[in-house]
Amino acid sequence: MAKKRKKIISGNAKTLTCAFCKGKGKDPFEVPSKLSDCQVCIGRGTVQVVEPVETCPYCKGEGIFFHHRMPCTVCGGRGSVTRIKGGERCEKCEGDGKNPDSGLPCSSCYGLGAI
Ligand SMILES: [Zn+2]
Ligand SMILES: [Zn+2]
Ligand SMILES: [Zn+2]
Repeated sequence: MAKKRKKIISGNAKTLTCAFCKGKGKDPFEVPSKLSDCQVCIGRGTVQVVEPVETCPYCKGEGIFFHHRMPCTVCGGRGSVTRIKGGERCEKCEGDGKNPDSGLPCSSCYGLGAI
């Protein structure tokens, strides 16, 4: 059994249902095959997000990068993001996380809706 030595998460991590596969552990789009494990949770059905946890403003907690059959680039497909402490609402996207022209994650707040 390989042990992970690197610990990236430092705060209190909360275990949540994977938004991308809705906890099924399988790729919701059956990509590349029906038997593929969910690329977000690696088949576990759950993901960890460091607290304080907030619903991803960009995908509205869906975990899916709209139209693209890909995990949301802002929350990584988890559906939740770590809220920025003392973050102010982004004026450019009005807290939506989305660039109104391109539909891509806002370049000012990286899709988080706050800066
Ligand atoms: Zn998943
Ligand atoms: Zn998202
Ligand atoms: Zn923004």
